[in-house]
Amino acid sequence: MSNNKYLVEVENLQKWFPTRRTMGEVFKGQQRYVKAVDGVSFKIERGEIFGLVGESGCGKTTTGKLIMKLLDPTGGKLIFDADDVTHLDKVGLDTYRQNVQMVFQDPYASMNPRFRLRDVLEEPLIIHKKGGTKAERMEMVKKALNEVRLQPPEEFMVRFPHMLSGGQRQRGATARSLILNPKMIVADEPVSMIDLSTRAEILHMMKTVQRELNLTYLYITHDLSTARYFTDKIAVMYLGKIVEMGVPNDVIDNSFHPYTKALITAVCEPIAGKVNRIKEVPIKGEVPSAENIPQGCRFHPRCPYAIKECWEKEEPVLEEVEKGHFVACRRYKEI
Ligand code: SF4
Repeated sequence: MSNNKYLVEVENLQKWFPTRRTMGEVFKGQQRYVKAVDGVSFKIERGEIFGLVGESGCGKTTTGKLIMKLLDPTGGKLIFDADDVTHLDKVGLDTYRQNVQMVFQDPYASMNPRFRLRDVLEEPLIIHKKGGTKAERMEMVKKALNEVRLQPPEEFMVRFPHMLSGGQRQRGATARSLILNPKMIVADEPVSMIDLSTRAEILHMMKTVQRELNLTYLYITHDLSTARYFTDKIAVMYLGKIVEMGVPNDVIDNSFHPYTKALITAVCEPIAGKVNRIKEVPIKGEVPSAENIPQGCRFHPRCPYAIKECWEKEEPVLEEVEKGHFVACRRYKEI
């Protein structure tokens, strides 16, 4: 293991998807792109929970897939544990996948319905040739089920996915992600399909496991209220770029970017003992298409504070406005 403080370093990561070309574009040799991720940079410390937050279509899931290496980037760099993993061959990918595991939004869809839970958990061990004998593999399965508090493990191992509640299935999915002893877990909306009453319980379990095993999480969500509770650092994404980043108290209670303010005021979350002092930000219209990103500040068509400079000058970059608090807005002091 490297001594580097950061487990993940993302530098100017891009994922552009080419669109279908019209006849005119074919003759002119032109190609348009949907810029799902358009120059994203951040670092995740070892043992940290880093949250990527934003509306649907902001690029957070594509960023997660790039970090999981389910997609190849169009540009930029991805460093994991001090190694450049931007482009990996099959052997490199195999090792990387053992170190970085994923928890999906829908645990039911990610499990073979004909497999008992013990088979679901044993499968990655067989694929990655871990655990010598069947008995050793079953011991590893029991250990993982104990870690996610599916106890007694013998009782849950024989159940099929449909015999588990939503919360138990997500615990099972988390156990599967832990079985290869990874360094990092990418959790994409892990509680959005679970009953409200069980969400806090699952997030608490994930946090306990993270502390016990000193894991690093990338937590992807549209839900600022769970991000506040669960993460150590938050990055807010808009149209393929990060617009604000910092610790939850700064980003949520002391936000500077108009888009973050609008997201916060859209969440009607009463916070015990706190007065929500962020005044409502009336943003206009819908998120523009990632195929047609506005020039200048990409938020300007929706921003109530936009002035001529915002679309005439170059796009504002993330700058550190307070210690550890980054914002991409040239007018953050005035609004
Ligand atoms: Fe709004 Fe201008 Fe700031 Fe962009 S740079 S968020 S348009 S005020």
